Amino acid sequence: MELTNIRDIRELLGRHGFSFSKGLGQNFIIDPTVCPKIAENGNAAPGWGVLEIGTGIGVLTAELAKRADRVAAVEIDQRLLPILDETLAGFPNIKIYNEDVMKCDLAKLIETEFSGLNVAVCANLPYYITSPVIMLLLESGLPLGSITVMVQKEAAQRLCAEVGSRDSGAITVAVNYYGTARKLFNVPRGCFMPSPNVDSAVIRIDPDPSGQLPSEEERFFFRVVRGGFSQRRKTAANALSSQLGIGKEPVYAALRTLGLPESARLESLTLDELKAFSRKLLVTA
Ligand code: SAM
Repeated sequence: MELTNIRDIRELLGRHGFSFSKGLGQNFIIDPTVCPKIAENGNAAPGWGVLEIGTGIGVLTAELAKRADRVAAVEIDQRLLPILDETLAGFPNIKIYNEDVMKCDLAKLIETEFSGLNVAVCANLPYYITSPVIMLLLESGLPLGSITVMVQKEAAQRLCAEVGSRDSGAITVAVNYYGTARKLFNVPRGCFMPSPNVDSAVIRIDPDPSGQLPSEEERFFFRVVRGGFSQRRKTAANALSSQLGIGKEPVYAALRTLGLPESARLESLTLDELKAFSRKLLVTA
């Protein structure tokens, strides 16, 4: 059976009485070139264990298992399990967890499945939880060598933007705080079944803990970033006083020590400026 062949997929799904769930973001890859490319760019290789989020009928799962030592995949939809039993029958190195990734104990999963291996994440993420999943992975402190994920094209642009640029948002700051992100390639909507209303792109995030702040400073940094970016058009002083109740004078003082005007908006600051700004503010506010 060819997992990217439309006729084979229809026959398989029909036989199992499966219908796509829009709510679970079920758009399965039917272009045969996409999954091998994700696997090859996503560290699916000897010496690696790969965590997949959302298997669908297993088209990416199989490509990962051909290349990596071990694959553990978290899939929420129980209806896919008998289908996966069939499509992945030839791969002894795959384990499926029928769970919601947002509630799954990923640290335990990694410890159980990938002992002695480097760990990568590869996934065609369901659109409705792209940001929460990426934040969960970044904030988790899990030992992840890389995170290679397909997301909506616009989300890719935001995730891979430069901090301080027009496309940048709070999630851009978070991604750059925890590592570096780059776009690998675009995937047009016609590569999926059913075809979504948007195009996609594959990005890769390489986590790098070296830039992380001590925990108290880190908590305050993200409060400042969330507060400041939730009202992007306002100046830093206006946004932070209305969102976090911080006085305008300490904000002006922190901006002045960085050589920035009192009218500065947080969205125009670089990552280093944001860190220095929040550190100053923490001691004065
Ligand atoms: N990897 C497959 C592919 O590329 O064809 C399927 C990708 S599809 C975009 C997303 C998959 O994630 C679906 O199989 C869906 O059931 C699953 N999913 C949705 N929400 C999930 C959640 N909270 N936890 C785990 N899996 C989830």
